[in-house]
Amino acid sequence: MAIDIVTETARKDSGESFEVTNPADGSVITSVPLDGAAEVGATVARVRANQPAWEALGFKGRARWLYMLRDWILDHQDEIADTMQRETGKVRGEAAGESVYLMDLINFYGKKAGKYIGEERVSAHSPLMKVKKLRVQYRPYPVVGVISPWNFPLILSLGDAIPALMAGCAVVIKPSEITPLGLAEIVDAWKREIGAPDVFDVVNGMGETGSALVDEVDFVQFTGSDRTGRKVMARAAETLTPVSLELGGKDPMIVLSDANLDRAANAATWGGMFNSGQVCLSVERIYVEEPAYDEFVAKLTREVGALRQGADGRTPEKDVGAMTSPNQTAVVEAQVEDALGKGARALTGGKRVKGPGDYFEPTVLVDVDHSMTVMREETFGPVVGVMKVRDSEEALRFANDTRYGLAASVFGERERAERVGRRVEAGAVNINDVIVNYVLMDVPMGGWKESGIGFRHGEYGIKKYCRPESVIVSRLGGKREPTWYPYTKSRRGLISRIARAFNARDWRRRLGLRAR
Ligand code: NAD
Repeated sequence: MAIDIVTETARKDSGESFEVTNPADGSVITSVPLDGAAEVGATVARVRANQPAWEALGFKGRARWLYMLRDWILDHQDEIADTMQRETGKVRGEAAGESVYLMDLINFYGKKAGKYIGEERVSAHSPLMKVKKLRVQYRPYPVVGVISPWNFPLILSLGDAIPALMAGCAVVIKPSEITPLGLAEIVDAWKREIGAPDVFDVVNGMGETGSALVDEVDFVQFTGSDRTGRKVMARAAETLTPVSLELGGKDPMIVLSDANLDRAANAATWGGMFNSGQVCLSVERIYVEEPAYDEFVAKLTREVGALRQGADGRTPEKDVGAMTSPNQTAVVEAQVEDALGKGARALTGGKRVKGPGDYFEPTVLVDVDHSMTVMREETFGPVVGVMKVRDSEEALRFANDTRYGLAASVFGERERAERVGRRVEAGAVNINDVIVNYVLMDVPMGGWKESGIGFRHGEYGIKKYCRPESVIVSRLGGKREPTWYPYTKSRRGLISRIARAFNARDWRRRLGLRAR
């Protein structure tokens, strides 16, 4: 398994650094050196030099290294969750989830990569071309740049790097400047404890570091806001670098009158408040058919009001953690104030929690409508708005009245809910469930409309990191093909008769007779 690698030289330092804080109490955890364009260029050049040897290892060779990473993650789950709690303010029950997803993902692509991007044998559609051997091989983009957000610092960075590494790419990640620590620990283990090939690294910094990465790599996998996604796409256009963008959402939930209201209310509570609502697939808007409205709202308010908010340690004792980014808390606060100012009511929650730490109360808003930003723009906080609707048609109209289209959920009698769900304009719809599509990595996950371009998971999630190369091998070895020079009348006539015989679908034309 030994491969020749360009060794990592002492990394040049731009001389600048930035601080990382713990959102649960506002304390500074550490400061991280900032990588400028020169450091980004040097890092990409180094992993690029090692990529051909990594690709040459084949699926099994690469999977062996990734399985070692899986085992390292398995053995260090507690430490990983500790760092996640520190840098994001997540509660333990949520911080611990990142490792579980990553191990499952490594096993998934370790097993499926060959099936998804192994060489394809194709047979020519035309009997005339059966003498050609056709194959499609999927060759990786040499270096993939992953730019990631702060809400799931490992799932949304390493989670996109894993299929790229399995595909044979080298990968450089620019994590969010708010949460770079957990990823740094894992990449350090990849290099030093596991001793894996030097095809995987991180660069740290703000937007400028991300832009510099876009300039250097061959494919950009971006997860973040649609505002930044547009900038990344524009920048990538300058070098004609392909992008995959996983952007924001405003996911609706539809509750039909025949739903199991306990399940729907519990799903709305978890789906809306999970990770303090800082989930691209969060339930943000709920449309309830009139006969079920009062009972559903009562159950939802009770459930949300009972959530335990705060910081815990290694033992799960809290349900809802901190807001990871102070800017996001300001967005949530402004949206809730806008709604309350326009006549909405908060049945529970509705305001920031007084410090220390950055918390927003789990909030249920009613009497909301689509004139309010809370029902139109991504909230990304622990807030749901609930609207009463006449019927499923009205619910669908509201659900689709958005520039986003990441995912949706519908609760109701199974067949009816599925019929309604299939008409939602989104990349995924969960029937009598929420958010679960993300861990079902068998199926594509991605956004319609302004929620993104491209998909992760399943075949899409690895094929996008490759360029198909069609390999055509002529089995016949004559002096020339009939279509080559010289052009003569007799050869032209022969080609035309053959084309007629193979392309016509009725006997008159096949025999060269005029159509009636
Ligand atoms: P963001 O857009 O502010 O930042 C994302 C990343 O882009 C960060 O690493 C940031 O430093 C970097 N960046 C900023 N400016 C850049 C530039 N000009 N060029 C290159 N990189 C640049 O997003 P965020 O606030 O970190 O994350 C929250 C957003 O992410 C929400 O909108 C959320 O819905 C979205 N998100 C989407 C998914 C998904 O799978 N669709 C998953 C999670 C989060």
